[in-house]
Amino acid sequence: MGCIFCNITEKKIPAKIIYEDDLVIAFEDVNPQAPVHTLVIPKKHISTNLELKKEDNGLLGHMFQVANRIAKDKGIAERGFRLVMNCNPESGQTVFHIHLHILGGRHMHWPPG
Ligand code: AMP
Repeated sequence: MGCIFCNITEKKIPAKIIYEDDLVIAFEDVNPQAPVHTLVIPKKHISTNLELKKEDNGLLGHMFQVANRIAKDKGIAERGFRLVMNCNPESGQTVFHIHLHILGGRHMHWPPG
């Protein structure tokens, strides 16, 4: 089957894509944990943040810029929102293609569960 997020990037499986450029794609999480739950992923396959190389520094910055723009567009930037990237199973990572969760629209708890 390959990587599910590569399949979304390549439009082999459907997703509610809300933003796309040469480097990244953003789509709505299929199992939202908050009123806003959008994922920003690189088009390039990187399995976890531990695999990031120095050459990916710009890509990571771009992912955050895109996430900020989406948070502003969805009206959660001023209220507050959370950006999460899980790494490896104990964190809860289930899809091994890095993704930034944008979570917002409700009060977030700390520490996270
Ligand atoms: P993580 O647990 O950090 O690896 O997050 C993976 C996220 O991907 C979860 O929030 C899932 O609900 C979401 N997800 C898995 N498959 C899809 C899909 N086909 N379309 C959209 N979101 C997905």
